[in-house]
Amino acid sequence: MPERHSLLALAALVAVVVAGCGDNAEPPPREVTLDAMVGANGLSNEIVFTVPEDTRSVTIVVEGAATALYALGALTLFDGIDRVGLGAEPIGAAMRASYDDEEIGQMPGGLLQSIRLGTYTHVYPYRPGQEVPAGQARLRVASDAAGPVRVTVLMPEEDAANVLSLHLIVISDTLTDPNTAPFVTELERIFGQAGIVVRVASVERITGSALERITQSTEPQESPASQSAMLPGLIGDDARDGLDVFIVESLPSGIGGLSLGTPGPPIRRSYYFGVLIRGGPGAVPLARVVAHEVAHFLALQHVQNIGISGAIYPDPLDDTQPGQGNLMETGTILTADQAFALTRSALLRP
Ligand SMILES: [Zn+2]
Repeated sequence: MPERHSLLALAALVAVVVAGCGDNAEPPPREVTLDAMVGANGLSNEIVFTVPEDTRSVTIVVEGAATALYALGALTLFDGIDRVGLGAEPIGAAMRASYDDEEIGQMPGGLLQSIRLGTYTHVYPYRPGQEVPAGQARLRVASDAAGPVRVTVLMPEEDAANVLSLHLIVISDTLTDPNTAPFVTELERIFGQAGIVVRVASVERITGSALERITQSTEPQESPASQSAMLPGLIGDDARDGLDVFIVESLPSGIGGLSLGTPGPPIRRSYYFGVLIRGGPGAVPLARVVAHEVAHFLALQHVQNIGISGAIYPDPLDDTQPGQGNLMETGTILTADQAFALTRSALLRP
């Protein structure tokens, strides 16, 4: 029955060709950079991008003027729902009030957003139950100042990535090497609660930078002009993977460490790329401060923050409670919701 065979073969060939067309279509890129313009109303034009299938998270980094505050004014994924949902309030004034007066820097609307000077970062999802549907998505930048911004969107694959590389950079010629066995063991134990494998990928020492002693810090977060935001510039834009941990001789009184973002931009060229730690305490206390600041940089808020007005701002998670020894207070415990948020970070590798 040669005719029948050839018909089947033809049908199979058609099926292969049809399927092949679908497979050969270029998948959307997992990193896009787009330009936008913030208008006098505090909102930018709409930016459109495509979320690929099987995306772990959407990280949005907005880079603009160093003296302007930035956040998102709208974020609509393929389901058509705007996650921000701003009301009618004047946007720039509301941003300034939360950042300058309340010293919290929390954006109005339905998304928990840390307003930032100069460079803003958001990682979505930041709590369980937030979905990342594939397909066309749209956003608008919000700011207190009109002008151009550059928006980078990172959409890493959902590949169960769980390896976090850290580069320890000692900004001192007197501090001892922090990379000891008790330090690494404690760091591994803390992040192990979230299923994250921490690796100290490198240790280096930089002397003569005049940044050994950081004498200023600003609330609620560091500014692009701060001393601490000069440290990432010592490393520059090389291609290495992982997050930079700067260990300095001193920080302003009462501060053991600080993160340049909550979350921070997972982009090496940024002046906010890294965390700062005051060197000197024993290995285990040092590991705990590093873990706390790195957790900020990847995703996590404090369990509670208190504004100048006395108002309490809880984190967006359901399973964290004050006074339970959490890493994002003064303890070392990480909860399941915190593990979810940490493992969305674009800095993790399989
Ligand atoms: Zn903190």
